[in-house]
Amino acid sequence: MKTIADLGDLSGKKVLVRADFNVPLDKTDNTTITDDGRIRAALPTIQKLLGAGASIILMAHLGRPVPGDKSTVAEKDGKSVDNSKFTLEPVAKRLSELLSGVEIILADDVVGPDAKAEAEKLVPGKVLMLENIRFDARETSKDDSEREALAAELASLADVFVSDGFGVVHRKQASVYDVAKKLPAAAGELVFKEVEALSKATNSPSRPLTVVLGGSKVSDKLGVISNLLKTADALCIGGGMAYTFFAAQGFEVGTSLLEEDQKAKCLEYIEEAKERGVKLILPVDTVIAREFPSSADGEDVFEGAVLSTEIPADKMGLDIGPDTRNLFADQIKQSKTVVWNGPAGVFEKEAFAKGTAAIAHALTEATASGAFTVIGGGDSAAAVRVLKDPATGQPFDEENGFSHISTGGGASLEFLEGKELPGLSVLE
Ligand code: AMP
Repeated sequence: MKTIADLGDLSGKKVLVRADFNVPLDKTDNTTITDDGRIRAALPTIQKLLGAGASIILMAHLGRPVPGDKSTVAEKDGKSVDNSKFTLEPVAKRLSELLSGVEIILADDVVGPDAKAEAEKLVPGKVLMLENIRFDARETSKDDSEREALAAELASLADVFVSDGFGVVHRKQASVYDVAKKLPAAAGELVFKEVEALSKATNSPSRPLTVVLGGSKVSDKLGVISNLLKTADALCIGGGMAYTFFAAQGFEVGTSLLEEDQKAKCLEYIEEAKERGVKLILPVDTVIAREFPSSADGEDVFEGAVLSTEIPADKMGLDIGPDTRNLFADQIKQSKTVVWNGPAGVFEKEAFAKGTAAIAHALTEATASGAFTVIGGGDSAAAVRVLKDPATGQPFDEENGFSHISTGGGASLEFLEGKELPGLSVLE
């Protein structure tokens, strides 16, 4: 994969950069960024390019606007969508703060007259941000010629392209894929770091390699399970997806999450793990509840732990139990490489967050003893940000506690499935 260094001398060049600035905004005002992690993750590339004497044209999306501009209000799927919620204004403001006041010129449009005029007069050291790329319907079009037309207009603004939005590299979209064919293109610092970490963990891992999976559905992780069963030494399965494995073996799972149509697949995985000598570790105990919690902390429905094979018919499993926490933690701590994707329980409710927190803590211990630990983006990365380390009662040390926390949920999952990601293969 080409990197920024392969683009040669960038002094005086205009560099078009695809970043992932799809940050969460506070629902009450739609302008306060509640987690700026993705903007921070883009800083190394921006700083490197500015340091090399280039000017930068940033492209990014935010949410799911309708085609138009920031003043457009239109119907989508029977709902009225107001595009003013999707302007990149809050992102431009925060990025400027994070770059110690470097001005971010925000264009009024994507590739319209304002973007073109601003790009034309851009001088080294300046940063221009195009408006939300998804205001232009061609960005996500399934029609190759439509995407290519937008990519050509984007490419005409700059001299080279740097792909740095890891969270979107699994998308065949104009600003991710097509534009890379129209300009000299390379991976930015973030994309390079993500690919390096995920490759190291899955292609040439120090062993034992333990994969910890959780989350709500088996069906979402089928590809990951079948791909990683080929390389992992151990597979710990928690979260809502574990119950389908129990139901498949004939056990009662009460009102827990269950995917009837995945039971046969689960039995196949149990067999395959045996054949390949992969240790498949399922929860031995389960924290149950009367029903799915509606209260903030879930305490009102919490009923404690039972054996996973003895879940009462009217109860719901919402977390791994204390014995399973120890079992998973022991396996993680014996490993030289750990990949974790998906929470072990409903971590959003305090009463059912202990399993997820215990896994995160075990990863920090593994990291401290020299293991290479990777958290696939999405909910597991979010959990590490919101939960406290049970050993200290303090927030997890995101910098030093883990070797790598991915910024891309869908992208890292597809990477772990061994799929070809269009936004990466186009940089080869
Ligand atoms: P995913 O997007 O598939 O990684 O799933 C993440 C979601 O799974 C989180 O919102 C968790 O609350 C949820 N989850 C984890 N364990 C369970 C469970 N036992 N029952 C219901 N939901 C769960």
